[in-house]
Amino acid sequence: MTGPSELGPFLYLFAGAAGLLVGSFLNVLAHRLPRGESVVWPGSHCPACGAPITALQNIPVVSWIALRGKCAVCRAPIPLRYPALEIANAALWIGVALKARDWGGFLSGAFLTSACLALLAIDAEFQILPDKITLTGIAAGIGLAFLSPSRAPLSAVLGAALGAGGLFLVAFLYEKIAGHEGMGLGDVKMLGMIGAFLGPAGVLLTILLASLSGSVVGIALIAAGAGTRKLRLPFGVFLAIGAVAAYFFGAPLIARYREMWPQ
Ligand SMILES: [Zn+2]
Repeated sequence: MTGPSELGPFLYLFAGAAGLLVGSFLNVLAHRLPRGESVVWPGSHCPACGAPITALQNIPVVSWIALRGKCAVCRAPIPLRYPALEIANAALWIGVALKARDWGGFLSGAFLTSACLALLAIDAEFQILPDKITLTGIAAGIGLAFLSPSRAPLSAVLGAALGAGGLFLVAFLYEKIAGHEGMGLGDVKMLGMIGAFLGPAGVLLTILLASLSGSVVGIALIAAGAGTRKLRLPFGVFLAIGAVAAYFFGAPLIARYREMWPQ
């Protein structure tokens, strides 16, 4: 098989089902990585009563609906965030399937969007971006570029270097000017990962989109009296949104921009 399109309509069924299953694993990552727990052992268990979750109770979305959002043993509520994250991941993977021209490209898009989704969930709740996702992502972004005819390994390496190096410079300057830390090293590594997948132009577009959306939300919060100038927004959330937007809509935006500047 040469590309995902050969599966025809089954491709979207496959992408949706695989996206739900991996979305379920992202829930495990989002729960365990910030707590320093192993992601492979022990098996899934209820965080409230410790009861093991059986295979039948672990079907994405379906089990949550069948259990009416409660643990089968202790009836502790299972947050809506769990099925929501599974559905979001399935939707992203169907979008990736529509866009990818080859299997390497599909794997690249699936990895990037899932990693961004997990980082968004973890950064929003804990304000951390685990190395296990960002550093693995840098390696995966560069490695998968060799498997995809539509991506260039050199662009992946340059993107990672520009992403991590560029944001490190921005973070350094921000700290010097504002007098307090605006971004952490987690943001720097996350942008390195984004660059490894999207290349130099994609990483610049991501910084632009993340800064714009972060500023809009920050100014809105300050205007609503909910924040101060010292407010620290989880920048990883905006980087995740910016990277996914740049992945899906970046190519036409970058092409339009280049047209504006005759060579
Ligand atoms: Zn329970």
